[in-house]
Amino acid sequence: METKLKLDYSLKTAEERKILVEEIVRQTPPNQLTEKYIEILSNYIVLAMDKEEKKKKEIITDNRMITINKRETSYQGLVSKFENGEDGLYNITIDNDKNVLLTPKISISPKDVAEIPALADLTEAIENIKKQVSRATGKRKYALKKQLIEMCQEQYTIKNAVKQPMFSTNIIKSFAHSDFGENITFDENGMPVSDGICSFFNPKHISALLCNYSALKEESWGKFDGDCYYMMLDLDNLIEDTLRDNYPLYYDLLIYKIDGRSNAEIQFLLELDHGIKHSVEYISSLWRNKIPKLLAENAVKRYLNWYYTTQEKGKWKKCSRCGEIKLAHNLYFSKNKTSKDGFYSICKDCRNKKTDKEEEK
Ligand SMILES: [Zn+2]
Repeated sequence: METKLKLDYSLKTAEERKILVEEIVRQTPPNQLTEKYIEILSNYIVLAMDKEEKKKKEIITDNRMITINKRETSYQGLVSKFENGEDGLYNITIDNDKNVLLTPKISISPKDVAEIPALADLTEAIENIKKQVSRATGKRKYALKKQLIEMCQEQYTIKNAVKQPMFSTNIIKSFAHSDFGENITFDENGMPVSDGICSFFNPKHISALLCNYSALKEESWGKFDGDCYYMMLDLDNLIEDTLRDNYPLYYDLLIYKIDGRSNAEIQFLLELDHGIKHSVEYISSLWRNKIPKLLAENAVKRYLNWYYTTQEKGKWKKCSRCGEIKLAHNLYFSKNKTSKDGFYSICKDCRNKKTDKEEEK
């Protein structure tokens, strides 16, 4: 009989935890090492790293005093850092639309407060302190703000103790369940529309996330109480799903970009790996336009497929040419008013192929 090793939370350092995890992995049959389990194991180590980090650093800086929301201030710092980067062009977008990527809301919802009594007390106390802060000056103001930040962090601790943190298994699930306050509706063509401050359906938002990928990743890593951590995991999943197999060159380009390589270096590396020499302008355009667009399109597809398989029974139809079964949706079949179900019987992919051939002739 197997005796299952348990995660020991009294182990404080990442190093100690790593040794335990290695032992667990050794003793666990491979088929039981599910993605979720591995994620739990890695979170267990990362959590300790995060704590070690916090011990080393003075958490409260002047900058963070200005606003309670840590992510918001650090992100503004990030944006300013990137303004003169090689792809500074993006930052025109980011800069004009700064709020787009800020995560302004504390992810404690009124529902949480209603459900968790301790949270209600704390929230009341926070409101109280906020009023005092607005009247206070100097040292006292500083002390009150410091207290306020601690209380806000306490909110998350309470919430996490009561509600299990979520695990990101795919973009849709965690995105839909995150506290971004995103509300997804469908437009008249049945395309999903998000009112979220940061949506994967929007190529500009994706582009901004990619441009700041490393910094955001570093910023959010291990912070399981923030939406950003899960959003970055979702972004990774989306990138893997969209590019790795279907667009290997774009995939490599993206990795090189994230690594901070220059377009000239990337040009050289891509030629080495793929035997194609693209101009640096083209590389920049792929990174700024084409890749974010592909990712956003796939995010829409993934959302629709998820929605019509889990939330609502979708209509599916078989393409009369390629025989593939696809969602009876404008995304896959062009609209045709004369047909019974409102769509052509041949899917868009097949219709496009046909047109390509005719053009060739
Ligand atoms: Zn087809």
